[in-house]
Amino acid sequence: MGLLTEGSPLSWEETKALADHVRQHGVVQFINLYKRLRDRQGDVLKWGDEVEYILVKFDHARKVARVSLRAADILNILQEKELKNPHGVKSLWRPEYGAYMIEGTPGKPYGGLLAHFNIVEANMKYRREEVARLLNPGEVVMSLTSFPRLGSHDFTDPPTVPTPETGASRSLFFPDEAIFQGHPRFRTLTRNIRQRRGSKVAINLPIFRDKKTPNPFVENLEAVGGNGESSEAALPNHVYMDAMGFGMGCCCLQLTFQACNINEARTLYDQLTPLCPIMLALTAASPLHRGYVTDVDCRWNVISCSVDCRTREERGELPLKHNKFRIPKSRYDSIDSYLSPQGEKYNDVPLIYDKAIYEQLRDADIDHLLAQHIAHLFIRDSVSLFSEKVNQDDEQDTDHFENIQSTNWQTMRFKPPPPNSPIGWRVEFRPCEVQITDFENAAIVCFVVLLTRVILSYQLNFIIPISKVDENMKRAQKRDALRQEEFYFRKDITTCVSPPAATSCCQTSDCCDVYTPMTIDQIINGKTDEFPGLIPLINSYLSGMDVDADTHCTIQQYLKLIQRRASGDLQTTARWMRQFVQSHPDYRHDSVVSERINYDLLTQIHGIQTGEIPCPDLLGTCLQSKTQESIPAAVEKAEAINGECC
Ligand code: ADP
Ligand code: MG
Ligand code: MG
Ligand code: MG
Ligand code: MG
Repeated sequence: MGLLTEGSPLSWEETKALADHVRQHGVVQFINLYKRLRDRQGDVLKWGDEVEYILVKFDHARKVARVSLRAADILNILQEKELKNPHGVKSLWRPEYGAYMIEGTPGKPYGGLLAHFNIVEANMKYRREEVARLLNPGEVVMSLTSFPRLGSHDFTDPPTVPTPETGASRSLFFPDEAIFQGHPRFRTLTRNIRQRRGSKVAINLPIFRDKKTPNPFVENLEAVGGNGESSEAALPNHVYMDAMGFGMGCCCLQLTFQACNINEARTLYDQLTPLCPIMLALTAASPLHRGYVTDVDCRWNVISCSVDCRTREERGELPLKHNKFRIPKSRYDSIDSYLSPQGEKYNDVPLIYDKAIYEQLRDADIDHLLAQHIAHLFIRDSVSLFSEKVNQDDEQDTDHFENIQSTNWQTMRFKPPPPNSPIGWRVEFRPCEVQITDFENAAIVCFVVLLTRVILSYQLNFIIPISKVDENMKRAQKRDALRQEEFYFRKDITTCVSPPAATSCCQTSDCCDVYTPMTIDQIINGKTDEFPGLIPLINSYLSGMDVDADTHCTIQQYLKLIQRRASGDLQTTARWMRQFVQSHPDYRHDSVVSERINYDLLTQIHGIQTGEIPCPDLLGTCLQSKTQESIPAAVEKAEAINGECC
């Protein structure tokens, strides 16, 4: 998303009345874009990360930590440099959902040299320092997936109160002031999702049952202003949340890759799909929500429910009368269909799509797989429309297409080139939870980018039936999934491209034969004689390349971290957080994360992030990269000449 331009949001009624208008023009815009760009060739690997951050305000005297609602002020300053010199800055800053959140990316994407892996972490560090310089005393910037006491009493600085009867969220817990105020987009989305659904969103996370957790665990929601709707939506023995902010107010780590052409983008989209649940479990970092210890380790379902705008009819609770489709998933969820010929026969989940839109795309000479992908995205209504954007030039503009595309928040995103830009077909990898340190975030980013290179050079095939990826997504979020769960994974990943089949294969034994349950340790590190392991494959790929000593060292440190996390030798962030809470002297074994526990946890995390507090459980003892700010000119030149591009 670029810099947000100011605009006037339409009311939900107006937006709803224009739903078909947005869809119709959005599809035409996609068709026009596709015609122009389908044959675009020769783009090179470029890629970039996105890290989301939370601003935290410590009150050291009272030992409390709150989210600081100063993101808009800080962003204004951060963006000044970009406005003056759009192509010369080292970082780009964007608003995010929370009034306490910001998103940072490198100033320009990285390229295909291996040496680029050595500057990723330094850039992340630079970004953090850039923000830190603008903070008030007691404020810190943290890459934290979820703020543990988000939505608990008095969790913001300055203090705010929820308004259950008015405003965008109508939440019992999450005040509208905690939504980013610098642009109306986020409040509008919040209101429209609630109005489209016909009720507040409802998120129920199973509570972690400890020795003294009340049984059953039921909260008196009327006592905090509930009017019956909340009590009805809240499940016993669950932590109940009722606002978009609980999900979209979480932070994540995303990656975008440019492919050489549309087909390579489709291949990467498919091949990375089975890795989404694996990477979600490996990066699990959010066991604490609304001041409670929950029984899940990840944010995924929280966000999915937090923007679930489906009506009761669409969710299957009432017969279809006003709506067109029963829709099995929220608009924030894992993808539903593969896009490449290899993936085709593994599309075993019935895909809901608009037949008329599908036919329109087919008539425009768009193949079945891409047409059904787009027609599936377009079952959704626009949930945010600005008056300035209603009428567009479908030959040139893509805003209506982007309107639907960018509010289908899925594990993977297939990104067409923006109009009139040098940017090619791209794929975005979106499942990862953000980690505490730049070292960890850089390690994950480099691991995934290297994996894409290995997939393409060795023509690896990770594809399993999409229903099994869905099942893996469920498993990935369970407490300690990394050590406790097995995941369906393809047995033989070196059998490359199988011929496309006309029908789904999942009634035949061929398809079910391709996968087997594996642990994440086996997937990442290998299983003797049976499965090579992703890191050994990456190492074998790297062994064929010349790389400067510093970059080599950095990459090896990153791969070691991933290996040790996967084997359970090092803890996931989620496991480490659970352990911190459970061994805190103030913890009463009642699943409650008190103000003091929250404060001590966040102080500890801040110390780990700055390097002042060692954390061998999470990071090991000697993991340190040789990251540097820029690639030495000699290395860049030598690599470019010798063609040591990854
Ligand atoms: P969004 O929020 O829509 O995913 P952003 O613009 O915030 O998009 O982030 C996109 C990411 O893509 C950034 O990390 C950026 O560095 C990277 N990027 C920019 N240009 C390219 C490109 N041509 N190819 C691949 N990645 C790119
Ligand atoms: Mg972004
Ligand atoms: Mg975004
Ligand atoms: Mg973001
Ligand atoms: Mg993104």
